[in-house]
Amino acid sequence: MTTPVDPATQELVARAKEITEQELKVFEDRTPGSKAQDARASSRLPMGVPSSFQFYDPYPIVVRHARGTRVVDVDGNEFVDFNLGYGSLLAGHSHPVFADAIREQLEHGTLYVTPCEANEEVAGLLIERFPFDLVRFTNSGTESTMDAIRAARGFTGKTKIVKAEGAYHGHHDEVLVSVKPPVAEAGDAHHPLAVPYSEGLSTTALRDVLVVPYNDLEALEETLVEHGDEIAAYILEPVAENMGIVLPDEGYLQGVRDLTRRHGVLMICDEVKTGITAHHGGASTRYGIEPDLVCLAKSIGGGVPVGAFGGRAEVMEGIASGRVMHLGTFNGNPLVMAASRAVLRDIVTQEVFDEACGRNRRLLAACRAEIDRAGLPAHTVEMGAKGCVTYSPEPVRTYRDYKSTDFDLAYAHWIWMMNRGIFLPPGLDEQWLISVQHTDDDIDRHAEAFGGFVAALAG
Ligand code: PLP
Repeated sequence: MTTPVDPATQELVARAKEITEQELKVFEDRTPGSKAQDARASSRLPMGVPSSFQFYDPYPIVVRHARGTRVVDVDGNEFVDFNLGYGSLLAGHSHPVFADAIREQLEHGTLYVTPCEANEEVAGLLIERFPFDLVRFTNSGTESTMDAIRAARGFTGKTKIVKAEGAYHGHHDEVLVSVKPPVAEAGDAHHPLAVPYSEGLSTTALRDVLVVPYNDLEALEETLVEHGDEIAAYILEPVAENMGIVLPDEGYLQGVRDLTRRHGVLMICDEVKTGITAHHGGASTRYGIEPDLVCLAKSIGGGVPVGAFGGRAEVMEGIASGRVMHLGTFNGNPLVMAASRAVLRDIVTQEVFDEACGRNRRLLAACRAEIDRAGLPAHTVEMGAKGCVTYSPEPVRTYRDYKSTDFDLAYAHWIWMMNRGIFLPPGLDEQWLISVQHTDDDIDRHAEAFGGFVAALAG
C-alpha cells in the first residue's frame, strides 16, 4: 500500500477510508442473505467458495439469477454486471442465441468423447480470427497455458520458462510463481526473484521459472543471453490484465518477438483475457504480433468452460505426430462447441463488438471527466471492450508500479459502486467489461454512480 506523500493525497486517502467504513455497513445491511450463506458454506467449502479467488472482502455476494447485463443476489439486490465473470461474458449472460444453441444441443447429447462436427467448425472460426494455423480445445485458461507450455517444451527440447512479474496465467505449478509477490521478498525490480504464490508447489517447477519485469526488454535480453539455451518459452499477456490494464510500451511486443526468435525461445501470448475482448482477433492481432502459441478461454465460450491454444503448424506438429501429449475427456465436447460457435459466429460479430467498444469509450470519457474535474490522482485505461480506473497519476508499466497505486481509493470505489448496483470486479487487479448486451442506459448508470463516488471523495 502506498504511503501518501503530499497532504492533499493524505486527505483523499483518509476520506476514502471513511467512505469504506460507511459503505461496508451499508453493504452488510443490504446483503444479510449472502453473509449467512458465506458463514454456512464455510463449514463445507474452504473459505466458503468453490475457487479461492471467488472470496473477496468483506464476503462475496451470492447470486441467484443472471440474465443479459443483470445479476440478482439472494437478497433480491439487482446489479448491472460489469464484472461478467472476470471478463468471461463478452456475450453477456445467457444471450438468447447462446441459450438456443445450448438447448438445441441438449437434444443431441452433451458428451461423445469422439469428435463432433462442430470441432472443425469452431477451430475454423478461431483460425480466421487469431494468428495460428492449428488449434486444440481445453476446458479452461489454466489448461490452455499448461498445454501450450508443454507444446513449447516438446518443440524446443528445453525446459525453463520465463514469465512476467505480477502476471497470472492460471493455477498449475509453473505459473503460480511471482503472481503477487510482496515487494520486500521479490528482490531487485530489474531482476526479480521467483517467489512462490502458494505452498505445495513442486520445487522443480519453481526452479524452472525465470521472472522478468513486464515492459523491460533489457531485462528480458539479459535473461535470454544468460539462460537462452535452457528456455523453452516466454509466456506473457500481450496486455497485462491482472494488474488493472497495463499496456505494452511502444515496441515492447515486437521487441519480445525479435529477442525470443533470436534466442530460439518461443513466444506464448496468453490471451485468456484479451482474446476476443481486446480486438476481434485478440491483442496479438491488434498489435500485429505473430506469437508461436496463443492461449484462449473465458469469453470464447460465452459462459461455459471452454479454452483453446493454437500455434504455428511447426510448433503443433509435436501434438499432430503424437510425440507431445494433449489429452482431456471433456475437450471440445459438443455442448461447449455449440456455445462457442454461437459466440464466435453469431453473437460477437465485428459490428456488435465495435458497438460495445464505442460504449466502453463513452464510459471511459465520462470517468475521465470526473477525475479531471476533481483533480484526482487517477487515470483511465482502455483495451477494446474493457476499461479501468487506476489510482495513480502516471500510467502503470510494471508490477512494481502497480503495487504503488492507491489500494485504499480503489477499494472505496469498488464498495461504493456495489452499494449502488454496479457490480465491478472485486480484487482490484481487474477491469470492467462492456458486453454486447450492455445498453446506453447501463453506461449512464455506471457513469452516474462513479460521479457520485468522486463527489463524495473530493467534493
Ligand atoms: N490466463 C490469464 C491471463 C487469466 O487471467 C486466467 C484467469 O483469470 C487464466 C489464464 C486461467 O484461466 P482459468 O481461470 O479459466 O483457468
